[in-house]
Amino acid sequence: MKQPLFGSFDGPHTHEHTLGPLQHISVPMRRFDDNEEADYLIVGIGSAGGVLLQRLARAGFSVVGLEAGPFWDTERDWVSDEAGSHQLYWEDPRVTGGSDPLALGANNSGRGVGGGSVHWAAFTPRLHPSDFEVYTCDGVGADWPLTYDELLPSYEQLELEMPVAGPAYYPWGRPHGYAYGPHPMGGVGNALVRGCSALNIPVSIGGPVAILSGSHGDRPHCIYRGFCIQGCKVGAKASTLITHVPDALHNGAEIRPHSMAARIELGRNGRVTGVHYFDRDGQTHFQKARAVVVAGYAIETPRLLLNSACPGFENGLANSSGTVGRYLMAQAGNVVLGRFDQLVRMYKAPPAHALTEEFYETDPRRDFARGFAIQTVGPLPIAFAKQMVAAKKAWGWGLRREMMDYNHWAALGVLGEILPWPENRVTLDEEKDQFGLPIAHVSFNLHDNDKKLIKFGKEKAFEVMHAAGAAEVVQEARYAHLVGACRMGSDPSTSVTDKFGRTHDIPNLFVCDGSLMPTQGSANPGLTIQALAARTADYLISQGDTIFHSNQRNDTEPRIRRELAPPGTYGKGVPRVR
Ligand SMILES: Cc1cc2nc3c(=O)[nH]c(=O)nc-3n(C[C@H](O)[C@H](O)[C@H](O)COP(=O)(O)OP(=O)(O)OC[C@H]3O[C@@H](n4cnc5c(N)ncnc54)[C@H](O)[C@@H]3O)c2cc1C
Ligand code: SF4
Repeated sequence: MKQPLFGSFDGPHTHEHTLGPLQHISVPMRRFDDNEEADYLIVGIGSAGGVLLQRLARAGFSVVGLEAGPFWDTERDWVSDEAGSHQLYWEDPRVTGGSDPLALGANNSGRGVGGGSVHWAAFTPRLHPSDFEVYTCDGVGADWPLTYDELLPSYEQLELEMPVAGPAYYPWGRPHGYAYGPHPMGGVGNALVRGCSALNIPVSIGGPVAILSGSHGDRPHCIYRGFCIQGCKVGAKASTLITHVPDALHNGAEIRPHSMAARIELGRNGRVTGVHYFDRDGQTHFQKARAVVVAGYAIETPRLLLNSACPGFENGLANSSGTVGRYLMAQAGNVVLGRFDQLVRMYKAPPAHALTEEFYETDPRRDFARGFAIQTVGPLPIAFAKQMVAAKKAWGWGLRREMMDYNHWAALGVLGEILPWPENRVTLDEEKDQFGLPIAHVSFNLHDNDKKLIKFGKEKAFEVMHAAGAAEVVQEARYAHLVGACRMGSDPSTSVTDKFGRTHDIPNLFVCDGSLMPTQGSANPGLTIQALAARTADYLISQGDTIFHSNQRNDTEPRIRRELAPPGTYGKGVPRVR
């Protein structure tokens, strides 16, 4: 052979990224000079930041994204292996406390382009209309400053952009259907269906999940190997890294990886002027921008605002209300595991593929407000081992015996709505990180309503598991999906931003991520987070240049800009006849 199979090696091409076997980015990325004033600077290119970056770039704004983690090349950096995937998570030190401390680290945010959408399981249910008026309906929590109907066009749009596979008819919340057909069922889904059918509980099978059930442009369909939480090397699972970032770069956005935002600078005129950040060598820089959007996740977003305290905002930037860091929420995420005589092989499918929302809404016959969903989860062996340690105190030889039995177990997740409480919050700790920045201190406490809801949800999942035929049922108590801590609201004295994510205090400073959510429902938050980002983008685009020089606020609802979707949103895959 005269030539090497794939041509001779002519050095690394730094602008090329493979994103799965077929998709790659090969455009040289635009580079802004620190002194060049970008229109928008986005801190964090994760679930929300990735969508916002794409929209603003396509609309013609100059945009820089600072991302603390790497810009993944999926072929080079990712492995289909549980132990080898830890670099996908934000593992920097954080302090956890309160009466019911949250486990932090691998169970929370991502680090790297795509953020948490890289390691999410991609369950994508919508919130219900009642979630937007929890206080009005149930006298607990808070109302959102927008309605379900206002977010609906963005939900529908993002479901096409990811796209989401699911049933033709989804009965809960505002009933709707999905344009892309559902997935086949794995062993855990079969257990959920068996149990729910025996108890007369409706179940949705095969989605909604942002995983391709048919090939879609340059992305292949799912091959059911179950490494979704490890990133999905196949490219079948949606992440903003593969759905939105390529189009953002094609339209002139810059993503600066390994860039840790340290402090947002406030100018004398009460408007922000840019962001101080550390590069991968620990050198400090200042990027100028006409407006700044913080999209760093429910812990890092309030941390950055608190770390940006300055004269006039001694308690944290944009924190005149004192709510930055408060009303942090996690969903109850108890995992209920059942052992079956027959083989289940729970790894052989995406973990996310069937669920019931039959217990989602407040039921006056129960002694607590709000509700929960029951969903399939498919822990891989290391996660399963931890669950056996927690649930059965298995250890040593006993744990090895449980591990050898792995293929007989099925796992269901209870996803329960914990209410927003002011003392559940992110503050700054005395301890500092590698950059010398105070780390986040996360305090979390369950209230009576939360405890009753978790108990009821857990018992219902046990009932379902037993009805499915499990001989032994155990559970691990845990939490999932942190949101809140910079909530949006109509009242500037009790919220950080308005309904578009614009901070009440500073007209050119925005928040755009899960930290905006005033309540969380019992739907996984990722779709809502991306839909909110698309809505914020529509708003910013509708305001044109005024964001950069005017302090006037215009709350007119923006029109949805479907034309700014990444190419290939329509006319590919397997759209369903409606
Ligand atoms: C194991 C697991 C499974 C999940 N499964 C699902 C699911 O099935 N469905 C669902 O809807 N949700 C799921 N989630 C939750 C979902 O991933 C998150 O809710 C979502 O990604 C949060 O989006 P975000 O935009 O708020 O933050 P992220 O997506 O985490 O993005 C924040 C980004 O900001 C960067 N950043 C933070 N601080 C800085 C800084 N100072 N400077 C520069 N960059 C910074 C981070 O590196 C990160 O890339 C799951 C989460 C986990 C942990
Ligand atoms: S099961 Fe499907 S979505 Fe999950 S990692 Fe495998 S190919 Fe990707």
